[in-house]
Amino acid sequence: MRISKKSTNFAAAKNVELNSQFIMDKQTQMYVDAFMADLIKKNPGEQEFHQAVREVVESVAPMIMAYPYLREQKIMERIVEPERVIMFRVPWMDDQGEVQINRGYRVQMNSAIGPYKGGIRFHASVNLSIMKFLAFEQTFKNALTTLPMGGAKGGSDFSPRGKSDAEVMRFCQSFMTELQRHIGADTDVPAGDIGVGGREIGYMFGQYKRLRDEFTGTLTGKGQLWGGSLMRPEATGYGACYFAEAMLATRGESFEGKKVCISGAGNVAQFAAQKAMRLGAKVLTLSDSDGFIYDPEGLTEEKMAYVFELKNVRRGRIKEYVTKYPQAQYFAGERPWKIACDIAMPCATQNEIEKADAENLIKNGCFCVTEGANMPSTPEAIAVFQGAKILYSPGKASNAGGVATSGLEMTQNSMRLKWTAEEVDARLRTIMADIHAACLKYGTEEDGYINYVKGANIAGFMKVANSMVEQGLV
Ligand code: NDP
Repeated sequence: MRISKKSTNFAAAKNVELNSQFIMDKQTQMYVDAFMADLIKKNPGEQEFHQAVREVVESVAPMIMAYPYLREQKIMERIVEPERVIMFRVPWMDDQGEVQINRGYRVQMNSAIGPYKGGIRFHASVNLSIMKFLAFEQTFKNALTTLPMGGAKGGSDFSPRGKSDAEVMRFCQSFMTELQRHIGADTDVPAGDIGVGGREIGYMFGQYKRLRDEFTGTLTGKGQLWGGSLMRPEATGYGACYFAEAMLATRGESFEGKKVCISGAGNVAQFAAQKAMRLGAKVLTLSDSDGFIYDPEGLTEEKMAYVFELKNVRRGRIKEYVTKYPQAQYFAGERPWKIACDIAMPCATQNEIEKADAENLIKNGCFCVTEGANMPSTPEAIAVFQGAKILYSPGKASNAGGVATSGLEMTQNSMRLKWTAEEVDARLRTIMADIHAACLKYGTEEDGYINYVKGANIAGFMKVANSMVEQGLV
């Protein structure tokens, strides 16, 4: 490592120009291996959490080796330890009168740069490892947005799929009855995630207001009639497309005329598809956990209107698309990555692109992968993308538009006013451009390849780390 001596103290490091001279050497690799061995020992069985931490440690280890104050202050050791983990029982009664018990979580990971902020996920797969990986990722993502938000995540192993509105309401009320003790407009501001959309946020906000007797901006993603920001539903998908546009521009490309494969059919996927289509792309696929649809003619505004109604009003399954549009095909139990495309946007869940999927994408000509979901590519898949030197962005950079617009909702709530859709969209575009610029600054390698993983991790980490140092040992 070629680092000047004066850069090795905190004051200098705050302003230092970071660049690709920070490389992984043998000593740094030993630090990573020892750190990970300790983390795995302390957090046994939490595979998703280990995976998310390893990715960040590998990116920032050269910084840690370069700046002794980061090691002396044990910043990495502190940053992987949640400030608080709340786990609780969520009892509720189903429509048959049977008692049901689920488990609730809130992981308050880091409050160095603002109140805890992060979504709530309701899905049968939710466990402590998934909550911790999401809260960890959220910490760096929120730092990248340039807004003052700490990192958190919450949820439950409750699945809204197949439940009546009344059951979802009873569950949300029971969940919030405990969670309300731990959150607040200046403490922790949850939002939606998988399985938590406008309906669930509404039920949780109603119960929060009733128990706390206050009308504050404590949840984001609220309804338009009662404090929600315009463009929040669109923000994650649109923001991912704005980020992809910036990535494509580095190679003189755009969405115009490109074939795009998208996974998922929920909030992020729907608006990523709509924006990509409006930017001139041909969107070929959507999916859910049962399979994917392939429409060789591409989505249109009319087809998207059908998807919005199918998923958000009727709460149906994506395979129904082929009944309505018979030129499309449904592939049960498969993921969309075998369809040839120029751009892939995984917008469903973690680890949904494995090594073989990544190899397939590259073989079929894909040259840009922009993540809308959190950690949808396995480490092996990321290695394939980066090895092939294609454009690849991690979710913590490209899906940050959702939480950024939640931050804008908090600002509007505090000011007791509402911005126009155009104003919110303009701010979202600026934030995504700034995140892209940060990735270029910290991730451009000597051969000119932009390593977005490294760029996002270093930029997010240094902001959180230096804030922690300035606030002392807390
Ligand atoms: P939704 O619940 O609206 O949609 C999720 C979609 O992904 C559904 O189509 C769902 O299918 C599918 N899916 C869920 N789990 C699996 C699985 N195990 N295998 C295959 N498909 C699956 O969630 P969102 O759109 O909000 O979230 C999608 C991703 O984006 C998540 O990774 C989330 O963390 C991330 N994200 C979301 C943000 C937001 O603002 N909402 C912000 C930033 C990131 P099915 O109906 O079958 O479950």
